[in-house]
Amino acid sequence: MKALVFHGPGSKAWEDVADPRIQRPTDAIVRIDTTTICGTDLHILKGDVPTVQEGRVLGHEGVGTITAVGAGVQRLAVGDRVIVSCITACGMCEYCRRGLFSHCLADEGAPGLGWVLGHLIDGTQAEQVRIPFADSSLHKVPEGVEDAAAVMLSDILPTGFEIGVRNGRVSPGDVVAVVGAGPVGLAAVMTSVLAGPSRVIAVDLDAHRLDQALRFGASDVVDAGDPDWYDQVMARTDGLGVDVAIEAVGVPDTFTMCTRIVRPGGHVANVGVHGRPVELALQELWIKDVTLTTGLVSTSTTPMLLRLVEQHKLAAAAFATHTFALDHIDEAYEVFSHAAETKALKVLLTR
Ligand code: NAD
Ligand code: ZN
Repeated sequence: MKALVFHGPGSKAWEDVADPRIQRPTDAIVRIDTTTICGTDLHILKGDVPTVQEGRVLGHEGVGTITAVGAGVQRLAVGDRVIVSCITACGMCEYCRRGLFSHCLADEGAPGLGWVLGHLIDGTQAEQVRIPFADSSLHKVPEGVEDAAAVMLSDILPTGFEIGVRNGRVSPGDVVAVVGAGPVGLAAVMTSVLAGPSRVIAVDLDAHRLDQALRFGASDVVDAGDPDWYDQVMARTDGLGVDVAIEAVGVPDTFTMCTRIVRPGGHVANVGVHGRPVELALQELWIKDVTLTTGLVSTSTTPMLLRLVEQHKLAAAAFATHTFALDHIDEAYEVFSHAAETKALKVLLTR
Protein backbone atom coordinates (compact mmCIF):
# COMPACT_ATOMS: atom_id res chain seq x y z
CA MET A 1 0.00 0.00 0.00
CA LYS A 2 0.94 3.68 -0.13
CA ALA A 3 1.50 5.71 3.03
CA LEU A 4 3.05 8.98 4.17
CA VAL A 5 6.32 7.98 5.80
CA PHE A 6 8.27 10.25 8.16
CA HIS A 7 11.96 10.42 7.21
CA GLY A 8 13.24 12.73 9.93
CA PRO A 9 12.83 16.49 10.39
CA GLY A 10 11.68 18.22 7.21
CA SER A 11 11.30 15.02 5.27
CA LYS A 12 8.33 12.83 4.39
CA ALA A 13 7.35 10.78 1.36
CA TRP A 14 4.20 9.15 -0.05
CA GLU A 15 5.65 5.75 -0.81
CA ASP A 16 5.11 1.99 -0.92
CA VAL A 17 5.17 0.20 2.43
CA ALA A 18 4.09 -3.28 3.51
CA ASP A 19 0.34 -3.76 3.99
CA PRO A 20 -0.57 -3.79 7.68
CA ARG A 21 -1.63 -7.19 9.03
CA ILE A 22 -3.36 -8.47 12.13
CA GLN A 23 -0.69 -8.95 14.80
CA ARG A 24 -2.86 -9.61 17.85
CA PRO A 25 -6.36 -11.08 18.18
CA THR A 26 -7.74 -7.68 19.29
CA ASP A 27 -6.47 -5.83 16.16
CA ALA A 28 -8.46 -4.62 13.18
CA ILE A 29 -7.29 -3.41 9.79
CA VAL A 30 -9.05 -0.31 8.53
CA ARG A 31 -9.07 0.92 4.94
CA ILE A 32 -8.81 4.68 5.23
CA ASP A 33 -11.64 6.51 3.44
CA THR A 34 -10.96 9.99 4.88
CA THR A 35 -8.03 11.28 6.87
CA THR A 36 -6.80 14.75 7.70
CA ILE A 37 -3.75 16.71 8.83
CA CYS A 38 -3.26 18.10 12.34
CA GLY A 39 -1.00 20.87 13.60
CA THR A 40 0.81 18.16 15.55
CA ASP A 41 1.88 16.56 12.24
CA LEU A 42 3.62 19.83 11.37
CA HIS A 43 5.36 19.76 14.77
CA ILE A 44 6.54 16.19 14.10
CA LEU A 45 7.85 17.24 10.68
CA LYS A 46 9.72 20.16 12.22
CA GLY A 47 11.44 17.70 14.53
CA ASP A 48 9.73 19.05 17.68
CA VAL A 49 8.50 15.56 18.62
CA PRO A 50 11.66 13.48 18.91
CA THR A 51 9.85 10.32 20.04
CA VAL A 52 8.38 9.87 16.55
CA GLN A 53 10.84 7.61 14.83
CA GLU A 54 11.93 7.75 11.21
CA GLY A 55 10.24 5.23 8.95
CA ARG A 56 6.84 5.39 10.65
CA VAL A 57 3.59 6.45 9.00
CA LEU A 58 2.11 9.81 10.05
CA GLY A 59 -1.50 10.73 10.84
CA HIS A 60 -3.82 10.20 13.80
CA GLU A 61 -7.26 11.17 12.49
CA GLY A 62 -9.34 9.04 10.18
CA VAL A 63 -12.55 7.38 9.12
CA GLY A 64 -12.54 4.11 7.24
CA THR A 65 -13.97 0.69 6.60
CA ILE A 66 -12.86 -2.45 8.45
CA THR A 67 -11.29 -5.00 6.11
CA ALA A 68 -10.07 -7.56 8.67
CA VAL A 69 -10.53 -8.29 12.37
CA GLY A 70 -8.62 -10.53 14.77
CA ALA A 71 -10.35 -13.47 16.44
CA GLY A 72 -10.74 -11.50 19.70
CA VAL A 73 -12.65 -8.53 18.25
CA GLN A 74 -16.23 -8.76 19.50
CA ARG A 75 -18.09 -5.54 18.76
CA LEU A 76 -16.96 -4.86 15.18
CA ALA A 77 -16.95 -6.73 11.89
CA VAL A 78 -15.55 -6.49 8.39
CA GLY A 79 -17.45 -3.81 6.46
CA ASP A 80 -18.16 -1.58 9.47
CA ARG A 81 -17.53 2.14 8.92
CA VAL A 82 -15.52 3.47 11.87
CA ILE A 83 -13.84 6.51 13.37
CA VAL A 84 -10.21 5.87 14.28
CA SER A 85 -9.57 7.41 17.69
CA CYS A 86 -6.28 9.30 18.04
CA ILE A 87 -5.69 7.25 21.20
CA THR A 88 -5.73 3.46 21.24
CA ALA A 89 -6.69 1.88 24.55
CA CYS A 90 -7.32 -1.58 25.94
CA GLY A 91 -10.47 -0.41 27.71
CA MET A 92 -9.78 -2.67 30.69
CA CYS A 93 -6.69 -1.53 32.60
CA GLU A 94 -6.75 0.63 35.73
CA TYR A 95 -6.47 3.88 33.76
CA CYS A 96 -8.88 2.90 31.01
CA ARG A 97 -11.47 2.08 33.66
CA ARG A 98 -11.06 5.65 34.89
CA GLY A 99 -11.57 7.00 31.35
CA LEU A 100 -7.89 7.98 31.07
CA PHE A 101 -7.40 6.20 27.76
CA SER A 102 -4.28 8.19 26.91
CA HIS A 103 -2.61 6.52 29.89
CA CYS A 104 -3.62 2.97 28.94
CA LEU A 105 -1.20 0.56 30.58
CA ALA A 106 -1.30 -1.83 27.63
CA ASP A 107 1.04 0.67 25.92
CA GLU A 108 0.07 -0.06 22.33
CA GLY A 109 0.56 3.55 21.32
CA ALA A 110 -1.39 6.15 19.41
CA PRO A 111 -1.46 5.99 15.61
CA GLY A 112 1.18 8.31 14.18
CA LEU A 113 1.90 9.96 17.55
CA GLY A 114 4.94 8.69 19.39
CA TRP A 115 4.73 11.20 22.19
CA VAL A 116 1.50 10.11 23.76
CA LEU A 117 2.34 6.64 24.94
CA GLY A 118 5.95 6.41 23.99
CA HIS A 119 5.42 3.53 21.60
CA LEU A 120 4.67 4.60 18.04
CA ILE A 121 2.33 2.64 15.84
CA ASP A 122 1.78 3.56 12.22
CA GLY A 123 -0.71 6.28 11.43
CA THR A 124 -3.73 7.03 9.30
CA GLN A 125 -2.21 9.01 6.41
CA ALA A 126 -2.15 5.78 4.48
CA GLU A 127 -4.37 3.51 2.43
CA GLN A 128 -4.75 1.17 5.43
CA VAL A 129 -3.93 1.15 9.12
CA ARG A 130 -3.66 -1.50 11.86
CA ILE A 131 -5.55 -0.49 15.00
CA PRO A 132 -4.85 -2.31 18.27
CA PHE A 133 -7.71 -2.96 20.73
CA ALA A 134 -10.20 -2.31 17.96
CA ASP A 135 -13.26 -2.72 20.19
CA SER A 136 -12.32 0.30 22.31
CA SER A 137 -10.21 2.30 19.81
CA LEU A 138 -12.70 2.41 16.92
CA HIS A 139 -16.21 3.86 16.93
CA LYS A 140 -18.91 2.73 14.51
CA VAL A 141 -20.24 5.63 12.44
CA PRO A 142 -24.04 5.78 12.28
CA GLU A 143 -25.68 5.99 8.88
CA GLY A 144 -26.29 9.58 7.88
CA VAL A 145 -23.08 10.92 9.47
CA GLU A 146 -20.71 11.93 6.69
CA ASP A 147 -16.97 11.26 6.79
CA ALA A 148 -16.20 15.00 6.89
CA ALA A 149 -18.04 15.25 10.22
CA ALA A 150 -16.98 11.93 11.71
CA VAL A 151 -13.25 12.55 11.16
CA MET A 152 -13.42 15.60 13.47
CA LEU A 153 -14.17 13.16 16.32
CA SER A 154 -10.79 11.44 16.05
CA ASP A 155 -9.06 14.29 17.87
CA ILE A 156 -10.11 17.94 17.64
CA LEU A 157 -13.68 17.84 18.98
CA PRO A 158 -12.91 15.56 21.95
CA THR A 159 -9.80 17.68 22.68
CA GLY A 160 -11.67 21.01 22.66
CA PHE A 161 -14.47 19.51 24.72
CA GLU A 162 -12.60 17.36 27.25
CA ILE A 163 -9.56 19.53 27.95
CA GLY A 164 -11.20 22.93 27.35
CA VAL A 165 -14.91 22.82 28.14
CA ARG A 166 -15.22 19.89 30.55
CA ASN A 167 -12.02 20.53 32.50
CA GLY A 168 -12.92 24.25 32.59
CA ARG A 169 -16.40 23.31 33.93
CA VAL A 170 -18.18 25.62 31.51
CA SER A 171 -21.66 26.09 33.00
CA PRO A 172 -24.92 27.79 32.01
CA GLY A 173 -24.60 31.58 32.00
CA ASP A 174 -20.79 31.57 32.06
CA VAL A 175 -18.65 34.01 30.14
CA VAL A 176 -16.04 31.91 28.36
CA ALA A 177 -12.94 33.15 26.57
CA VAL A 178 -11.18 30.86 24.11
CA VAL A 179 -7.68 32.11 23.35
CA GLY A 180 -6.58 30.69 19.98
CA ALA A 181 -9.12 30.03 17.23
CA GLY A 182 -7.36 27.27 15.34
CA PRO A 183 -9.16 23.96 14.83
CA VAL A 184 -8.80 23.01 18.51
CA GLY A 185 -9.88 26.44 19.82
CA LEU A 186 -12.83 26.43 17.43
CA ALA A 187 -13.73 22.96 18.70
CA ALA A 188 -13.75 24.45 22.21
CA VAL A 189 -15.94 27.33 20.99
CA MET A 190 -18.36 24.93 19.30
CA THR A 191 -18.65 22.58 22.30
CA SER A 192 -18.78 25.44 24.88
CA VAL A 193 -22.06 26.46 23.32
CA LEU A 194 -23.53 23.09 24.37
CA ALA A 195 -23.25 24.16 28.01
CA GLY A 196 -25.34 27.33 27.57
CA PRO A 197 -22.82 30.10 28.31
CA SER A 198 -23.97 33.72 28.18
CA ARG A 199 -20.98 34.73 26.04
CA VAL A 200 -18.14 33.00 24.23
CA ILE A 201 -15.33 35.40 23.42
CA ALA A 202 -12.79 34.19 20.86
CA VAL A 203 -9.34 35.79 21.00
CA ASP A 204 -6.86 35.40 18.13
CA LEU A 205 -4.38 37.43 16.09
CA ASP A 206 -5.82 36.35 12.74
CA ALA A 207 -8.90 38.24 11.47
CA HIS A 208 -10.04 35.32 9.35
CA ARG A 209 -9.85 32.92 12.30
CA LEU A 210 -11.93 35.40 14.32
CA ASP A 211 -14.56 35.41 11.55
CA GLN A 212 -14.56 31.64 11.69
CA ALA A 213 -15.08 31.76 15.45
CA LEU A 214 -18.33 33.70 14.91
CA ARG A 215 -19.43 30.99 12.48
CA PHE A 216 -18.63 28.34 15.13
CA GLY A 217 -20.79 30.00 17.77
CA ALA A 218 -18.66 32.71 19.41
CA SER A 219 -20.70 35.74 20.44
CA ASP A 220 -17.73 38.14 20.55
CA VAL A 221 -14.26 38.34 19.10
CA VAL A 222 -11.18 40.20 20.27
CA ASP A 223 -8.03 40.75 18.23
CA ALA A 224 -5.13 39.74 20.48
CA GLY A 225 -2.94 42.16 18.50
CA ASP A 226 -4.97 45.19 19.63
CA PRO A 227 -3.09 47.09 22.35
CA ASP A 228 -6.33 47.24 24.37
CA TRP A 229 -7.28 43.57 23.94
CA TYR A 230 -7.40 43.13 27.73
CA ASP A 231 -9.81 46.05 28.20
CA GLN A 232 -11.96 44.69 25.39
CA VAL A 233 -12.31 41.33 27.17
CA MET A 234 -12.92 42.94 30.56
CA ALA A 235 -15.56 45.28 29.09
CA ARG A 236 -17.54 42.19 28.08
CA THR A 237 -17.54 40.87 31.65
CA ASP A 238 -18.56 44.08 33.49
CA GLY A 239 -14.93 44.34 34.53
CA LEU A 240 -15.07 41.09 36.52
CA GLY A 241 -13.08 38.78 34.25
CA VAL A 242 -14.22 35.62 32.50
CA ASP A 243 -15.56 32.56 34.31
CA VAL A 244 -13.53 30.21 32.14
CA ALA A 245 -10.44 31.00 30.06
CA ILE A 246 -9.46 28.24 27.61
CA GLU A 247 -5.89 28.32 26.30
CA ALA A 248 -5.74 26.76 22.82
CA VAL A 249 -2.43 28.00 21.39
CA GLY A 250 0.43 26.51 23.40
CA VAL A 251 2.79 29.46 23.94
CA PRO A 252 3.71 31.20 27.23
CA ASP A 253 2.04 34.53 26.23
CA THR A 254 -1.39 33.05 25.69
CA PHE A 255 -1.21 31.10 28.94
CA THR A 256 -0.47 34.38 30.75
CA MET A 257 -3.33 36.07 28.88
CA CYS A 258 -5.67 33.43 30.31
CA THR A 259 -4.47 33.85 33.88
CA ARG A 260 -4.95 37.63 33.54
CA ILE A 261 -8.50 37.59 32.17
CA VAL A 262 -9.94 34.93 34.48
CA ARG A 263 -12.13 36.24 37.30
CA PRO A 264 -11.53 35.39 40.95
CA GLY A 265 -12.85 31.89 41.50
CA GLY A 266 -12.77 31.10 37.79
CA HIS A 267 -11.12 28.34 35.77
CA VAL A 268 -8.16 28.35 33.39
CA ALA A 269 -8.26 25.26 31.18
CA ASN A 270 -5.00 24.79 29.36
CA VAL A 271 -5.32 22.81 26.12
CA GLY A 272 -2.22 23.97 24.25
CA VAL A 273 0.84 21.76 24.09
CA HIS A 274 3.68 23.90 25.43
CA GLY A 275 7.09 23.23 24.00
CA ARG A 276 8.59 25.66 26.53
CA PRO A 277 7.90 26.28 30.22
CA VAL A 278 5.24 28.88 30.97
CA GLU A 279 5.38 31.45 33.70
CA LEU A 280 3.17 30.19 36.50
CA ALA A 281 2.35 33.08 38.82
CA LEU A 282 1.10 30.72 41.47
CA GLN A 283 0.81 33.40 44.10
CA GLU A 284 -1.56 35.47 41.93
CA LEU A 285 -3.60 32.42 41.03
CA TRP A 286 -3.80 31.49 44.69
CA ILE A 287 -5.02 34.92 45.72
CA LYS A 288 -7.55 34.85 42.86
CA ASP A 289 -8.81 31.37 43.84
CA VAL A 290 -8.24 30.20 40.30
CA THR A 291 -8.57 26.53 39.37
CA LEU A 292 -6.02 25.55 36.75
CA THR A 293 -6.44 22.40 34.70
CA THR A 294 -4.50 20.82 31.88
CA GLY A 295 -4.49 17.45 30.22
CA LEU A 296 -4.18 15.12 27.33
CA VAL A 297 -7.22 14.19 25.27
CA SER A 298 -8.60 10.75 26.15
CA THR A 299 -11.34 10.54 23.48
CA SER A 300 -13.61 9.00 26.13
CA THR A 301 -16.27 11.51 25.03
CA THR A 302 -16.19 10.57 21.33
CA PRO A 303 -19.35 8.39 21.56
CA MET A 304 -21.29 11.22 23.26
CA LEU A 305 -20.09 13.80 20.70
CA LEU A 306 -20.95 11.39 17.89
CA ARG A 307 -24.55 11.20 19.16
CA LEU A 308 -24.75 14.98 19.01
CA VAL A 309 -23.40 14.98 15.46
CA GLU A 310 -25.94 12.32 14.48
CA GLN A 311 -28.73 14.45 15.96
CA HIS A 312 -27.51 17.54 14.06
CA LYS A 313 -26.63 19.30 17.33
CA LEU A 314 -22.94 19.61 16.46
CA ALA A 315 -22.05 20.76 12.94
CA ALA A 316 -18.74 18.91 12.94
CA ALA A 317 -18.22 19.05 9.16
CA ALA A 318 -17.88 22.85 9.37
CA PHE A 319 -14.13 22.46 10.02
CA ALA A 320 -13.47 20.99 6.57
CA THR A 321 -12.23 23.71 4.20
CA HIS A 322 -10.28 21.74 1.56
CA THR A 323 -10.39 18.20 0.13
CA PHE A 324 -7.68 16.35 -1.81
CA ALA A 325 -7.25 12.79 -3.01
CA LEU A 326 -4.98 10.79 -0.68
CA ASP A 327 -2.20 10.58 -3.26
CA HIS A 328 -2.15 14.40 -3.45
CA ILE A 329 -1.10 14.52 0.19
CA ASP A 330 1.94 16.72 -0.49
CA GLU A 331 -0.32 19.43 -1.94
CA ALA A 332 -2.61 19.05 1.06
CA TYR A 333 0.33 19.61 3.46
CA GLU A 334 1.29 22.74 1.48
CA VAL A 335 -2.22 24.17 1.83
CA PHE A 336 -2.45 23.25 5.52
CA SER A 337 0.95 24.59 6.45
CA HIS A 338 0.17 27.98 4.85
CA ALA A 339 -3.17 28.39 6.60
CA ALA A 340 -2.80 32.18 6.95
CA GLU A 341 -2.86 32.52 3.14
CA THR A 342 -5.01 29.53 2.18
CA LYS A 343 -7.49 30.01 5.05
CA ALA A 344 -7.37 26.28 5.70
CA LEU A 345 -8.88 24.89 8.89
CA LYS A 346 -9.00 21.16 8.24
CA VAL A 347 -7.76 19.66 4.98
CA LEU A 348 -9.40 16.34 4.15
CA LEU A 349 -7.75 13.54 2.20
CA THR A 350 -10.11 11.04 0.67
CA ARG A 351 -9.71 7.66 -1.01
P1 NAD B 1 -3.20 26.10 15.43
O1 NAD B 1 -1.77 26.43 15.40
O2 NAD B 1 -3.88 25.68 14.17
O3 NAD B 1 -4.03 27.33 16.00
C1 NAD B 1 -3.53 28.21 16.94
C2 NAD B 1 -4.25 29.55 16.83
O4 NAD B 1 -3.69 30.41 17.79
C3 NAD B 1 -4.09 30.22 15.47
O5 NAD B 1 -5.37 30.59 14.97
C4 NAD B 1 -3.21 31.44 15.78
O6 NAD B 1 -3.52 32.56 14.97
C5 NAD B 1 -3.54 31.69 17.24
N1 NAD B 1 -2.49 32.41 17.97
C6 NAD B 1 -1.15 32.29 17.87
N2 NAD B 1 -0.52 33.15 18.71
C7 NAD B 1 -1.50 33.81 19.35
C8 NAD B 1 -1.50 34.85 20.33
N3 NAD B 1 -0.35 35.35 20.83
N4 NAD B 1 -2.69 35.30 20.78
C9 NAD B 1 -3.85 34.80 20.29
N5 NAD B 1 -3.92 33.83 19.35
C10 NAD B 1 -2.75 33.37 18.89
O7 NAD B 1 -3.35 24.96 16.55
P2 NAD B 1 -4.51 23.89 16.82
O8 NAD B 1 -4.32 22.72 15.92
O9 NAD B 1 -5.83 24.58 16.85
O10 NAD B 1 -4.08 23.40 18.28
C11 NAD B 1 -4.06 24.30 19.37
C12 NAD B 1 -3.22 23.74 20.51
O11 NAD B 1 -3.84 22.57 21.03
C13 NAD B 1 -1.81 23.30 20.07
O12 NAD B 1 -0.87 23.67 21.07
C14 NAD B 1 -1.93 21.79 20.02
O13 NAD B 1 -0.68 21.16 20.16
C15 NAD B 1 -2.84 21.56 21.19
N6 NAD B 1 -3.48 20.24 21.29
C16 NAD B 1 -3.64 19.74 22.55
C17 NAD B 1 -4.18 18.49 22.74
C18 NAD B 1 -4.34 17.96 24.13
O14 NAD B 1 -4.55 16.76 24.28
N7 NAD B 1 -4.26 18.78 25.15
C19 NAD B 1 -4.60 17.72 21.64
C20 NAD B 1 -4.47 18.27 20.36
C21 NAD B 1 -3.90 19.54 20.21
ZN1 ZN C 1 -5.91 0.37 29.07
